[in-house]
Amino acid sequence: MPGIDLPTVKCVSREIQVGISEKRDPTQTVVVTSPQYVQPMIFRESPVSMSCSFCQAQIVTTTTYTTGTLAWLICGILILLGLWLGCCLIPFCLNGCKDVVHTCPNCRQQVGKYNRM
Ligand SMILES: [Zn+2]
Repeated sequence: MPGIDLPTVKCVSREIQVGISEKRDPTQTVVVTSPQYVQPMIFRESPVSMSCSFCQAQIVTTTTYTTGTLAWLICGILILLGLWLGCCLIPFCLNGCKDVVHTCPNCRQQVGKYNRM
């Protein structure tokens, strides 16, 4: 009689389902919602789109070049190499040697800096 067999099959499948759900419970509790981790902004030479930490506005940073450690270092190296006559000032003219300061166009606050050293 096939009608009798069906309920027993259902019972077995229920037991299996319960067994699986019981096994899954510990893993579900292990998966804790990770705390909100704010990834630190990485500032390079190009302006970055971010939210200003001072005025909370969504901005694209304004970049300005400042003489950083690398420019002074190259200047010193050029002097040591004997390039006195103005050549040691080359790194101060090259943006590639300078640090980049990112400022907020909204509140004019410095929001970040890209140091080459
Ligand atoms: Zn701002």
